[in-house]
Amino acid sequence: MYLPALRLSDTLRGVKEEFSPLDPPNVRMYVCGPTVYDVAHIGHARPAVFFDVVRSYMERLGYRVSLVTNVTDIDDKIIKRANEEGVSFREVAERYEREYFEAMSMLGVSLPTVVPRATDYIDDMIRVVEGLIERGHAYATERGDVYFDVSTFPEYGKLSKVRVEELVAGARVEPGEGKRSPEDFALWKAAAPGEPSWPSPWGPGRPGWHIECSAMILRLLGPQIDIHGGGQDLVFPHHENEIAQMEAYTGKSPFVRYWMHVGLVTVKGEKMAKSLKNYFAVKVAAEEFGAEALRAFLLSAHYRSPLEFSPEAVRAAGSRLESWQSALMRAEAYLRESGPSHSLSSEDLELREKILSARAAFFDAMSDDFDTPKALAALDAISAAASKVTSESLAPNVAAEAVAALRDLMGVLGFEVVPGAASAELERVVNLLVQVRSELRRRKIWDLADTIRSRLGELGIRLEDRGEETVWWIEG
Ligand SMILES: [Zn+2]
Repeated sequence: MYLPALRLSDTLRGVKEEFSPLDPPNVRMYVCGPTVYDVAHIGHARPAVFFDVVRSYMERLGYRVSLVTNVTDIDDKIIKRANEEGVSFREVAERYEREYFEAMSMLGVSLPTVVPRATDYIDDMIRVVEGLIERGHAYATERGDVYFDVSTFPEYGKLSKVRVEELVAGARVEPGEGKRSPEDFALWKAAAPGEPSWPSPWGPGRPGWHIECSAMILRLLGPQIDIHGGGQDLVFPHHENEIAQMEAYTGKSPFVRYWMHVGLVTVKGEKMAKSLKNYFAVKVAAEEFGAEALRAFLLSAHYRSPLEFSPEAVRAAGSRLESWQSALMRAEAYLRESGPSHSLSSEDLELREKILSARAAFFDAMSDDFDTPKALAALDAISAAASKVTSESLAPNVAAEAVAALRDLMGVLGFEVVPGAASAELERVVNLLVQVRSELRRRKIWDLADTIRSRLGELGIRLEDRGEETVWWIEG
């Protein structure tokens, strides 16, 4: 099958161009993962689901993707929570790491290739910090903190377009902090009393957040990678700082070929965030709306745009998904009852053409910087065509085309495709019941006919009357 070449936008250069990895067909991809101090909410789920789709679509195009997603398991918030509960930071981190991956797995997100935990890479981080000091890009203070000296990296700001002069104007150095300039950022933090710490050349302490990602990328993927992803809120300062650290340390540029940033999930226009108390936990939402509906909702806007959360919007995404599934089921049921069509009417041909162009439109959309809203619209078009085939009893060959397309494309987006064909035995039994019911209807014994339909419905077998005929399918 012909698949269009992938075009990607890059936040840094602000261009959209044909994707060309450093070492095809390998793709090295890093996505900033969770800081594990509380339950995962829908704001966390959006990048996870999106990059899951990116990875599977790239694999479909024939790339070999290595996806690394880190777990930040040491951080102020984790320490705070551990102190509140009177447990170790590790206990908190392990609990919420498990919770995060359980929640993502509910949403159909596959495990990344590697999931490094920050605390397993402390030696790597110390090595990078030492190297930055040697090269004159970082300095240690008397207190035992280490800062990156932003003035030694003239390209600072190239990703986020912030201007260093403005940063300097908007901030000040706290007394005793030991920073040379307000825009300098921490690579290593001296231990405060009672905090977890690791030995280092600057005394006991722990790594700053930004250095984590740089050190783990260097170790697991190398000095230059193809794609670096994360939420829009990480552009500054996190990713800006990652660039400064990495390029200053390795002397290689660009560190990242394509920066992909996912827009925020908003609630009434405001960022969904723990601190604003406007969040919906993934597990709670999956329970309430269905995990697949949530996944469909998360893909309903272009990844670079914000996505406004509301229960209505998630429900709408859920009914859309159901309409594809039910069109698929009905088309499969129709296929089961019919033999091949030996000739196609002009209407058949027209519909077949619609299915083929919608299928091509799906791949065009996905290859155009992952335009998932257009890809979902293509699925709407195919499912409308499938419904038309069955409701107007058109050629089964065209129904088969629609079934193949729906199964394939829903699979690309990671939606579970409900197992189609019933076992032969079950099929014979249901056909028998349907025949008996048709006879009852013919004799106008409606109550009994209705009972058969509703009892089968309770078993997940849906019957639909089309004039004299009845079609059936198994609901997902
Ligand atoms: Zn990161």
